[in-house]
Amino acid sequence: MFDLLTPSACLLCEHQTNLSGALCPACLNSLVRITNACARCGKCLADTTLCGNCIRTPPFFDSTVSVYAYRYPVTDLIQALKYKQKLIVARELGLRLAQKIKHKNRLLPDCIIPIPLHRRRFLGRGFNQAHEISRVLASQLQLPIDNDLIRRARPTRPQFELSAEQRHKNVTGAFELLRSPDYKTVAIVDDIVTTGATVNEVAKLLKRAGVLTVEVWTCALAR
Ligand SMILES: [Zn+2]
Ligand SMILES: [Zn+2]
Repeated sequence: MFDLLTPSACLLCEHQTNLSGALCPACLNSLVRITNACARCGKCLADTTLCGNCIRTPPFFDSTVSVYAYRYPVTDLIQALKYKQKLIVARELGLRLAQKIKHKNRLLPDCIIPIPLHRRRFLGRGFNQAHEISRVLASQLQLPIDNDLIRRARPTRPQFELSAEQRHKNVTGAFELLRSPDYKTVAIVDDIVTTGATVNEVAKLLKRAGVLTVEVWTCALAR
């Protein structure tokens, strides 16, 4: 699905890029990287390993790896991926995420689970961006993808339209397990994490079904 054969223009400034990149080197450097993040939620700046929120009210997931802060121009890239079918963005961001995961030299999970779209939205968009990113991670890290464990039980409104409290309600009970998971550790993958309500809901399901460790892998994180 990736348009790798023709030289392309940088998605942000329209300069010519190399064959495989979505961005020219200058634009790639302009993306704001996440450093000094809380090991658990990936969000708040933490001098120690955990932020206050995670100490007070730990989420269901155990750790977060994210590459970029969700702000301009990453916001534009994600929009281009989701609404203009620029699948090369999934490749570009997926490669950066895979590099960061490798760099952390961590034990890898048993499998990758992309956050599923509701069937109706999947049919409208034609692809699931979380799955497209997961495909890059799977090939870079040699991990299986499991698309058959979790599904969206009901359609939800886009999280960006909602307040933090509404987001929590919007996704509560939105997912269901299709079988009992036979994994000890999994990584759930999404393009962006904003409040973390969606990934937390999926992590809750997995933990309650016996998965011991749930990691969150995401390209961009709002903080
Ligand atoms: Zn550029
Ligand atoms: Zn935290």
